[in-house]
Amino acid sequence: MFNFILFGPPGSGKGTQSEKLIAKYHLKHLSTGDLLRSEIAKKTPLGLEAKKLMDKGSLVPDSVVIGMISDMLDANKGAAGFLFDGFPRTKVQSEELDKLLHARNSEINVVLALDVSESELVKRLLKRGETSGRSDDVNESVIRARIAEYHKKTSAVLEHYDKFDKVIHVKGEGSIEQIFERLCASLDQLQEEKHN
Ligand code: AMP
Repeated sequence: MFNFILFGPPGSGKGTQSEKLIAKYHLKHLSTGDLLRSEIAKKTPLGLEAKKLMDKGSLVPDSVVIGMISDMLDANKGAAGFLFDGFPRTKVQSEELDKLLHARNSEINVVLALDVSESELVKRLLKRGETSGRSDDVNESVIRARIAEYHKKTSAVLEHYDKFDKVIHVKGEGSIEQIFERLCASLDQLQEEKHN
């Protein structure tokens, strides 16, 4: 199994690059943002509660997303590997993810961290808001709140995986194709090392 986290702040291109990466590497894409938006679309109690927090740019509780990921791991036992996108987003989520994977004789092989400047993030998110239909992309103060949550809580995920020497930084600016090539180069090199 090959599992990795595509890490980065909101607007760093995780969703766009994930779509391309799962097609190339035949991995199962697990995006907690997508899972939550699907709960909102179905108007489930969980979705309605989550929406209130998401609309403010705050994170939903750890227990909610950890439960979702645990269910998805169970529902996809035959997967060749998982690409985690937008999860983990806190230290607790990282520790719980490691436990969930260890219980399945697996682990996170690498964290690919997309580095993008803050001004570029805000620009991209406002542009995405014109077409994405996402209420949290339209308002600049919500966008800034999401970036603040990232600095306050989510950067701890990098510190966690840095301890295990699992983080690779990738420049997240340039064309979609250029960034994709950089990500693939890191993954291909790792997979080669794993097989030697
Ligand atoms: P995303 O699509 O990854 O940008 O996530 C959109 C929103 O969903 C975030 O701003 C959070 O409110 C919520 N969310 C997504 N993933 C998580 C997570 N792992 N932990 C907590 N909240 C999350």
